[in-house]
Amino acid sequence: ESTRKVRVRFAPSPTGFLHVGGARTAIYNYFFAKAMGGTFYLRIEDTDRKRYNEAALKDLMRDLKWLGLNWDEGPGCEGDCGPYFQSERLDIYHREIQKLLDAGLAYYCFCSEERLNEVRAAQKKAGAPETGYDRHCRNIPREEAEARIAAGEKAVIRFKIPESGSTEFTDLIRGRIEYKNEVLDDLVLIKRDGYPTYHFASVVDDHLMGTTHVLRGDEWISSTPKHVLLYKAFGWEAPIWCHLPVILDSKNGGKLSKRNGAVSVSEFRELGYLPETMVNYLALLGWNPGDDREVMSLDEMIQAFKLENIHPTAVKFDEKKLQWMNMQHI
Ligand code: GLU
Ligand code: ZN
Repeated sequence: ESTRKVRVRFAPSPTGFLHVGGARTAIYNYFFAKAMGGTFYLRIEDTDRKRYNEAALKDLMRDLKWLGLNWDEGPGCEGDCGPYFQSERLDIYHREIQKLLDAGLAYYCFCSEERLNEVRAAQKKAGAPETGYDRHCRNIPREEAEARIAAGEKAVIRFKIPESGSTEFTDLIRGRIEYKNEVLDDLVLIKRDGYPTYHFASVVDDHLMGTTHVLRGDEWISSTPKHVLLYKAFGWEAPIWCHLPVILDSKNGGKLSKRNGAVSVSEFRELGYLPETMVNYLALLGWNPGDDREVMSLDEMIQAFKLENIHPTAVKFDEKKLQWMNMQHI
C-alpha cells in the first residue's frame, strides 16, 4: 500500500454528454479526495480527434460545476483552473514512447487496415482468440522501420505484450484478477496521426501526474492488464485500481440507455432535479455510508466515504427513487 498523498482524477473523453455513470465516477473520485485530504483533478482525454466534440466538452465542464465537483488544480491554475488536456501533451508522449522503443518493448507497425481485417477474419474462422493482430511487424529492425518512415511510409507504434505467462493485479473492489497474456494483443500506443491511444496517454499521465488511485467504471477492467504491463515496461509503480460496478437500466436490466429515459446529467438538470439530489442519489448507487442513512448532505457523504463500502455488483438506476429523493432535498 502506498503512503503517498491521495491524488485522483476524472478523465472523460469529450465525445458525448456526461451520463450518470460518468458523473458517479466523478463523484466517488471527488469524495475520496476530499475524505483523504487529497487532490482531485480533471483530465480531458481528447486524443481521438475524430470523435472530439467541442459542445460535449463545454457541457461536461458545466455539468461537473453544476454538481459542485470542482477540480483542485490545472495548468496555470489561479482560482478558476482549467483542466489538463492530453492534446496539449503530445511532446510528453513522444518523449516517453522513445523509452519503450529504445528498450525494444515497442515497435513500428506498417500494416494496413485491410490487412488487419483479413487477420481478424482468419482468426475468427480458425476459432483462435480474436486478438486482432498477428504481430506481423514485431521483428522489423528499428533502423529499417525508421528508414521507411523517413521515406514517407506511415506507421503506428505497438506495445510488445509478453508471449506467455499472465498478468495479475488487485482490484480494491473485486480482489485479485489475472489475465493470460496470450489473450492480450500488441496494442497500439501511438496512432498514425501521431496522437497517443487512450491506453498509452492514460498510463503516462497517471504516472507523471502522480495518480495514486484509479477509480473508473467496470468497463475498463479488461484494459487494466495492458496498463499494468505498461507500468512494468517503464519500471513505474502502478496506482491502486478500483473498478466501479455498472449502472443498469431498471426497466430491462441491460445497459442504461437513452431509449428508456433520461441518462445525462444535463437532462436531469433540465427536468428540474437539484444538484444535491443528483449527487446524493448517484453516490448511493453502488455505495452506502455503512449504516442505513439515505438522505445526506455533501459533507455527511464525504465524512462517511470509504472505498471499502462500494458494492461489487451492478446496480439499477431507479428514477422513482430519484424523484423521492428530490422531494427530500427541496
Ligand atoms: N477517457 C476514459 C473514459 O472516457 C477514461 C477511463 C479511465 O478512467 O481510465 O472513460
Ligand atoms: Zn504490422
